[in-house]
Parts: sequence; structure tokens; C-alpha cells
Amino acid sequence: MNVLVINSGSSSIKYQLIDMRSESVLCSGAVERIGEAMGSVTHKIAPGSPNEDKISLAEPIADHEAGMHIVIGLITDATRGVVKSMDEIKAIGHRIVQGGDVFNASCVVDDRVVDELTKLIPLGPVHNPGHLAGIRVARQLFPKVPQVTVFDTVFHQTMPARAYMYALPYELYEELKVRRYGFHGTSHAYVTKEAARFLGKSVDEVNLITVHLGNGSSMCAVQGGKSVDTTMGLTPLEGLIMGTRCGDADLAIYPLLGAAKGLSIEEINDLTNKQSGFKGICGMNDMRDIHEAVAKGDARAKLALDMFGYRNRKYIGSYLAVLGRVDAVVFTAGIGENDPVARELSCRGLTHLGIKLDHDRNMAPERGARDIAASGLPVRVLVIPTNEELEIARQTVSVLQAS
Ligand code: AMP
Repeated sequence: MNVLVINSGSSSIKYQLIDMRSESVLCSGAVERIGEAMGSVTHKIAPGSPNEDKISLAEPIADHEAGMHIVIGLITDATRGVVKSMDEIKAIGHRIVQGGDVFNASCVVDDRVVDELTKLIPLGPVHNPGHLAGIRVARQLFPKVPQVTVFDTVFHQTMPARAYMYALPYELYEELKVRRYGFHGTSHAYVTKEAARFLGKSVDEVNLITVHLGNGSSMCAVQGGKSVDTTMGLTPLEGLIMGTRCGDADLAIYPLLGAAKGLSIEEINDLTNKQSGFKGICGMNDMRDIHEAVAKGDARAKLALDMFGYRNRKYIGSYLAVLGRVDAVVFTAGIGENDPVARELSCRGLTHLGIKLDHDRNMAPERGARDIAASGLPVRVLVIPTNEELEIARQTVSVLQAS
């Protein structure tokens, strides 16, 4: 059974076609700069395998419909296509960032789901309109193929009110649904299951701190396999220090910037989401560039790294307090999987709490799931590669089997 996973944004469509018998990726790619003077398409066949093949195109792409036609053309191309016809695509899974508290499970797309997602636009103004464009076009072009929405927020719907409420006037929660939702849920869900498997336990008996460190970063306190707290909030801005997002910051910065700099709400939103984090501190948002700069003695890059490690340690410590017993801290995503220095900084000085890395295991250039903790300590430290697309495809299959 082939599942097409779609992550549709306001001006892009990212996709993967996964053969669920072997869980192998037949092709993946991205259609970008939709609606601009010149668009771009990158299409990889058998990505990551020895047979990997890449097609790059540059052409104007008027809208999401035109973008999806290009994707279908590439997937079913007579010579380099990975399937003979669209009939070989048996299901479509859509990644949705904001499901609010309306959705507490992945579900089959119908008109009601589209209506609810439309109502959720005020809570997900950056992502949900693009997702809806992708769903509309996919339903139009694949009318007979069942489609499923998989939400970043669903995994965190198990948080108790004490964790998801802001101490703001209660009416704001009632009227506007202002609360913490949390994001990266498919990643935290995926690594939770993989970590349980690695530890030889069932999912409902593991207590974990899952640490997703990528361009966007978040941490999750997992109790008995369920999210009980997470660092991101109403939007993905809250919590850890990220590539371009500031994470936790005092809301009083908003009126101060308005008064002192004459910035509008939109400009401050842009500043905190796109000009802050590592980029705001040292001008670079890629961790590899930051390491290079630190090696050359760049003091701001060193400060950014220090702040990042400190914030991560603070949250690991607080989630230890939330959970009591912790089986493992689990690192994942671009930085979490590949950067031993970032992992070391995130765990430094936590030996008295039962967390200590084994230097050699942490530094070893391995790629798969692995334990990098020092022997004899109560908390395992794992590196587990995340796979959000596979999790979306798995959930798509399981929702369709249950329906
Ligand atoms: P993601 O959002 O999960 O794709 O992660 C993207 C981030 O991972 C990039 O901004 C890089 O900073 C970081 N990254 C990727 N590879 C490495 C690496 N080998 N070492 C350090 N950081 C890396």
C-alpha cells in the first residue's frame, strides 16, 4: 500500500510517497515558491538509497493545484516515475500543525474536518491556510483516495489543565481558546514509541523526556507514553531557544518595543519568530555555522551556544521534577541526532540527577537508535532518529483500518 504524505504550506508542498509494506520511501520532494515569479521543484527518487536520483526544475507555479499536477507528473512519469498511475496511491496523509483542542486523534478528511480547520485559522494563521489549500487540491485531484489529517498538536492533548493553561484571565481561554497546545507531536509520538521499543518496555510504561532539537526545538515530558507537558505553547514560539525563535520571553517586551521602537504587533511577531533565537544573538541560525564561529573565537556564537545549553538543562531539570521517575532522555531531529556538543551542553552538570553522557558513546559518529549514557546511572540517554513522515503514514494507515 503506497501512502502519499503531504505537508502543504502557504507557498510550498512537501511530499513523500511511502511503500508501507517495507516502509521505504519511493520518492520525496518539495514544490516551493508557489505563486512567485519563479518556482522551484526538487524531486528525489529512492532518497537515501544507493540508487538515489534527483530531478530539479525551475518554472513558474501559479497555485497549489499547478504544484500538485507537477508532483503527480513526476511520480507517474513514464521513464523515471516510481508508480505507473495515480491508482497506485492508496491513501493520502496530511500534516496539520494546529488542531486546537477540537482534534484529539488523527481522522479521515471530510467536509466537517475542513470546516473545523478553517475555524482554527486564528490559532494557526501561519500554517493552517496552506494546509487547507493542500487538502482542497488533493481532494479535487484524488476524489476516490481516502485522506487523513495528522496533527502536530494531538500528542499533547493529554496534558492536564495545570500544564496547558496560561495564568491569564480565564475568559480568554473560554472566548478565544488561548492555552498551550504544543507542537512537534508526531515527532515526540514517534520517538516515544521507538524509545519504548529500544528499552524493551511497552509504551504505556515509559517515562521519558523527549528532546526535539532542530531548526524549531521543543521538549516533552512523557508519562506512561503520554505527553503531560511540553515547551511550545499557543504557537511554536514558546520554550527552547531555536534557530530564529526566541522561546520563553517576558510578554512585557511587546509593549516596550512598541513604545520605544514604534514597532507594530506584526513587526514584533516577525522579530520574535524570524529574527531571534540563534540568529538574533549571533547572526547565524544553523548550528554547524555556530560551531565553526565558536572555533574561530566568536564570542556571540559562544554566548548563543551557552544560552541554548542552559535553557535545555533547565527544562530537563524541570521535567525530572514533573515526572519523578525517568527512564530516558531522548534526543532527536537535526541537532539532537547529529550534534554531540549540543547533547553534552544539554546534559552538563546533571549527574546528581542521574543523567550523564558517556563521552565516547556520545562522540561516536553512529546514525541509528543508540544509548549514549554512562553506565550505571538510572537515566538512559538515547539518540533516536525521528521520522515524522513515516509516523504520518503509519497513522494514516491505522485510521483507515479502524474506519
Ligand atoms: P531539522 O529542523 O530537524 O531539519 O534540523 C535542522 C538543524 O539541524 C540545522 O539548522 C542544523 O543546525 C542542524 N544540524 C544538521 N546536521 C547537523 C550536524 N551534523 N551537526 C550539527 N547540527 C546539525
